[in-house]
Amino acid sequence: MDIYLASPRGFCAGVDLAVDIVDLAIQQYGTPVYVKHQIVHNPKVVADVEAKGAITVETVDDVPRGAVVVFSAHGSPPSDYTTAKKRNLTVLDATCPLVTRVHNEAKKYDKEGKEIVLVGHVGHQEVIGTTGHADMTLIDEREDWSLPDWEKGTEIAVLTQTTLSVNDTAIAVNKIKKKYPDAVIRDDICYATTNRQAAATELADITELVLVIGAQNSSNCNRLKDVALNKGIPAYLINGPEELDTDWLEGVSKIGITSGASTPENQVKAVIKFLAPENVFRIGPGEESTTFAIPRNLREVIGDGVRNSKEKQAPDEDH
Ligand code: SF4
Repeated sequence: MDIYLASPRGFCAGVDLAVDIVDLAIQQYGTPVYVKHQIVHNPKVVADVEAKGAITVETVDDVPRGAVVVFSAHGSPPSDYTTAKKRNLTVLDATCPLVTRVHNEAKKYDKEGKEIVLVGHVGHQEVIGTTGHADMTLIDEREDWSLPDWEKGTEIAVLTQTTLSVNDTAIAVNKIKKKYPDAVIRDDICYATTNRQAAATELADITELVLVIGAQNSSNCNRLKDVALNKGIPAYLINGPEELDTDWLEGVSKIGITSGASTPENQVKAVIKFLAPENVFRIGPGEESTTFAIPRNLREVIGDGVRNSKEKQAPDEDH
């Protein structure tokens, strides 16, 4: 059996940054440091930061008064910052800069009096954060949807969640453009999502089965699985070899493997070790060089001495 391994895969710059911010916060403040929402959508990453002394909570109200809290990479609504202030919390914001950019776009278009449309998934943490920054109409492209009938001349701006399917979003945007040709369209799907979907497309073209390594609640992992399924290739989203059903492998000689932006590389290695392939071939556009610095306001508080999540990844070392 041969394995075709997607490149890029795994941790993106935003996940690196968020995990490093929790590490630095613990070094600076000691334990516990609270994390509002899972720092990223991966149970192993969450368990790892919790083993170091982080405590994950779901709402700001769950954080004890006066404590230190890291806000997760997915971004938060302004109401969370207000609540944190009332509770006298020290907030370290680990929102990915590419999500912050969407928040800033929303505030700008709102100020300009435009109607804002957000293409995103109802209930996803990033969407909860973004919709808090301005009034907007949410379109979940997985459902049946239609836009309101705005008056002629209404200015419209279209934003997207960063981790959507590139293809499905293009279809949704075309539908919006048909009704409102002058709408301003922002391309908010991030580089990491785009690159991982491009690599998954190549995998699906040459393999008989695709395994996406990562968590069920990870949006970008699910979209990678969709890429393969939409090409007619069986695809499964699993955390590791313990979730792999060997019946899937019957008669299969070419397996594609990829992982989402929040999946640590050791989960991928565990699956490859279990499969014990004859060959491992690398497929896709290749590794990324994007990194995000610790924001200046946080550097002044927690420093930036330890940035080791990237090193822990070592994505292309010996498989
Ligand atoms: S997937 Fe994209 S938006 Fe999300 S944390 Fe990574 S780089 Fe940022």
